[in-house]
Formats: sequence, structure tokens, C-alpha cells
Amino acid sequence: MATAVAPRVFKNFINGEWVESRSGKAYENRNPASTDELVGMFVSSTGEDVGAAVDAAAEAYKKWRLVPAPKRAEILFRAAELLVQRKEAFAKDMTREMGKVLDETRGDVQEAIDMTYYMAGEGRRLFGQTTPSELPSKFAMSMRQSIGVCGMITPWNFPMAIPSWKLMPALISGNTVVLKPAEDAPLSAYHLVQVLTEAGVPRGVVNLVSGDGPSAGAPLVQHKAVPVVSFTGSSPVGRLVAQACAPDFKHCSLEMGGKNIIIVMDDANLDLALDGAIWGGFGTAGQRCTAASRIAVHKRVYKEFVSRFLERAKSLKVGDGLDPTTEMGPLINEQQLNTVMSYVEIGNNEGAKLLTGGNRLSGGSCAKGWFYEPTVFGDCSPKMRIAQEEIFGPVVSVIPISSLDEAIEVANGVPYGLSASIYTRDVNRAFQATRDLYTGIVYVNAPTIGAETHLPFGGTKQTGNGHREAAIAAIDFFTEWKTVYVDYSDKLQRAQIDNA
Ligand code: NAD
Repeated sequence: MATAVAPRVFKNFINGEWVESRSGKAYENRNPASTDELVGMFVSSTGEDVGAAVDAAAEAYKKWRLVPAPKRAEILFRAAELLVQRKEAFAKDMTREMGKVLDETRGDVQEAIDMTYYMAGEGRRLFGQTTPSELPSKFAMSMRQSIGVCGMITPWNFPMAIPSWKLMPALISGNTVVLKPAEDAPLSAYHLVQVLTEAGVPRGVVNLVSGDGPSAGAPLVQHKAVPVVSFTGSSPVGRLVAQACAPDFKHCSLEMGGKNIIIVMDDANLDLALDGAIWGGFGTAGQRCTAASRIAVHKRVYKEFVSRFLERAKSLKVGDGLDPTTEMGPLINEQQLNTVMSYVEIGNNEGAKLLTGGNRLSGGSCAKGWFYEPTVFGDCSPKMRIAQEEIFGPVVSVIPISSLDEAIEVANGVPYGLSASIYTRDVNRAFQATRDLYTGIVYVNAPTIGAETHLPFGGTKQTGNGHREAAIAAIDFFTEWKTVYVDYSDKLQRAQIDNA
């Protein structure tokens, strides 16, 4: 007789222990490619759980801040090695929990590996400056100091990479952490925290609370003992986070939405531009902050580009990301599917030409998930809502343009400023675009996606609030500068007065 097996319940990690939520409640995490598969149950945390996690992190901070950074780095190196060993298993779990194809989830884990090694390397740097003082017998330097408990709120689309972008720089800098991962993809964050713990992160230094935004995220952001909040997600939620941080002047880093563009000039290598547009537009089913949801194509090559782009989009194999032949996976959930469907209706109503797609896929291997056809609108005007707003799905708006100046105006004419790309073989055009595109990231002859961990990542306007993730920029966010003057002259020396 078959026995019912209770699904695994993944708990919170607080002060070095896996613990139930005080709410006593848990929620289901289902595979978006096959919703009858339960990935696991995750606890629904409340303000009380968050409070316990923050208390643990505050207590652990007293010791962790004093551990020499090269020693903290040794733990990160071990964590990176464990991630390398478990990369394939973690990638498979990630595809099951959020749907993107295996090649992409392997890339997500790899990004966490790269970030962990990179920040471990920083443990022997964390450089400040020493500089001559303007006064005699006086020594001047600057050094970084850690800040305290960092609250981290992350989205579901890069469920291991994005937590690692926040955790590793915070930890190497001597801070402690409470992480609230996205409710749709907490398993990858769970794996990351497990690895850090096995690598030797002391109890209380990293804490994880699962649950939804209002019940678990908001109390973390508002908690008085959390001086640093690092958020990645949508712009509307980012605005709430910023408002919650403002009264206490918390350090608040926001990485939010995008409406990224690929510009295809008339001298572009069209084969290359097509590869980039397919990958940029439909990778992760368009659910990337850097997705190329707009393609501006020079009128001289518009017809040829569009007909070849449609051919490629139509032939993409959509299905379960665990199948190695699948090229595009599902949307994350029913709500996102409804959002995409409503934008397609908006596009139709505002007069854009639906060239391919526009339907939910529900037959064959797509029967049990949230699948949508790769969809292309042509002849879009740059002011249409589908060309202005983040859709976060496999919907690309193609906009005809007649010159580079016009393309740049179109590119910059949206509320977001994350990533932009230009395909051209003219070096002058490439440099003009690099100068004039007002985004945080510019690609030349490459699509809008593909960040490397040792370069700053983030965007302008409603994409961000001036901070950057990754690279040294991340260390800048998770530390405060302290300037130190040591006067060994044995007398009062007044700056700007005694040496004037
Ligand atoms: P989301 O804004 O819905 O959720 C992000 C996180 O915020 C989740 O953990 C959620 O639980 C939490 N949250 C929700 N309400 C909250 C509240 N009131 N207080 C505190 N936390 C709250 O975003 P999503 O759907 O998970 O992710 C998609 C969005 O993320 C897109 O807009 C995408 O562009 C953006 N994104 C940006 C970047 C970047 O680096 N710029 C990277 C990836 C994704």
C-alpha cells in the first residue's frame, strides 16, 4: 500500500539553528513548470521571527566585526569550494523552484561562486588610504568600518546569485545578516546559507527568514536594530522600502526594474544582433531586470531583422527547464502570467502590431505550468505602454528608428536606466552611444544581459538609488569610512589656521 509522504518543511535559520516560525504556519513552493510538483514547504515568518533573527545577528556582530578580515575570507573560500562541488544539484533545484533552464541556473550558481571567491579575495585588501597631513608631525589615513546588522530582501529571478551579491560583501566587511528571500524561490537561498554554515560562519552571523513581503520583509526593513537595508526587486516595492528606511536614515540600497534596449544600427552584424536579441529578449522568459524588452532597429535593416527575428522567436522550444533541449522555461507564477497577458492586450489596444505569440501555452509539455509564447510586437511607438513599462515576460517591442540620435532619445526616454546595448561596426557610433546612454550598464555588440562580479552593477533613474552592487562598489555600501588623524607633535595644531 502506498504511504503518503509528508512534504519537507524548510525552516528558518536563526542563531545557528533551523527553527519553526512562531506563526506555526508554512506555505507551499511549487514548480512553475509543473505545478503538481511540490518543491517544499517553507515557513511563513512574522515580525516575531524577524525580531529573533535580528537579535541573533546583533549579538553575533559583537564578535564577528573583530575577526580579522583575512580569517573571514578563509570561510568564504571554503563556501565557494562547497558551491563548486554542489553546483549541479543546486542548479537542478533552482530550475525546479523557479523554472529557468538548466544552463541558466548553472550560470546563477556560478555567479554566486564567482562573487564568493571575489569577496574572499577582498579579505586581504579592504584598502583605505594613507596620505600626508597638511600639518607637521601628523599622520592621516582612512579605513573602512563595518556597520552592523544588514537586512537583505531579494527577488526570485536570481535566487542564489542576488543573495550572494549582498551576503558576501556584507560578511567580508564584518557585518552580520538577516536575509529574507523571495517567497517564490527560497530554496536556493536556503542552500546558500547551509553552505556558509558548513564553511564555518559562526552562529548568528547569517540568519534566514522565509515568508512574504508584508509579513516578513516589512518588519525587517523597519527594525530599529537594522541600520543597513539592501533590496532588489520591483520599483513599487523599492519605494516602500526606501520610505521605511528614511525616518532612521538607514543605509538603503535599491536595485529595481528595467526597460532595457538593444539598438541595431544599419551597419550591425545582423547575425550577431539576432543572437543577442533572442538571448536578451527571451532568456529567463524575459524575467530579468536586464531583459531586452525593447529593440530599436534602423529602418534600413528593419524588414530583414524583423523577419529573421520572428523566425527565431517562433522556433524557440518552450518547456520544462530540466529538459536539456528546452530553450525557454515558464513564468514564475499565475500572477505573472496574468500580468503578461494584460500587457499583450494593452499592446493590441494601443495599436502595436502583434507579429508572433500572444497566447498562453497549455498543451503537451506545457500543460501543467505557467507558460507563454515568445511574443513580438512590431512598429511600436516609443511612448506606448508596452515600450515604457516593465512587463517581465517574453514580450519584445520592436521600434523602428532612423538615426543614432533618435535611437538614443528612445533609449533614454523611459523611467528606468539599467542596461542598454548597441550593435554597430562603427567605432564612433559605439563610443557616442556609450557616452550618451543614461544607464548603469552599456554593452557594445553584446546583449543587455551578462554581468561580471568584479564590475559595478546597477542602474539610474527608477532602477536604483545611486548605489551599485558587486565589485568594490558593494564594499562601499556595506562599510562606512573612518578618517583617522594622529598628531604626534605634542602641541595643538589647528587645521587651516596654524599652517595658513
Ligand atoms: P518584488 O518587488 O515583488 O519582490 C522582491 C522582494 O521584496 C521579495 O522578497 C518580496 O517578498 C519583498 N517584498 C514585497 N513587499 C515587501 C514589503 N512591503 N516590504 C519589504 N519587502 C517586500 O519583485 P520580484 O517579483 O521578486 O522580482 C522582480 C523584480 O525585481 C523586477 O522588477 C526586476 O526588474 C527586479 N530585479 C531587479 C534587479 C536589479 O538588480 N536591478 C535584479 C533582479 C530583479
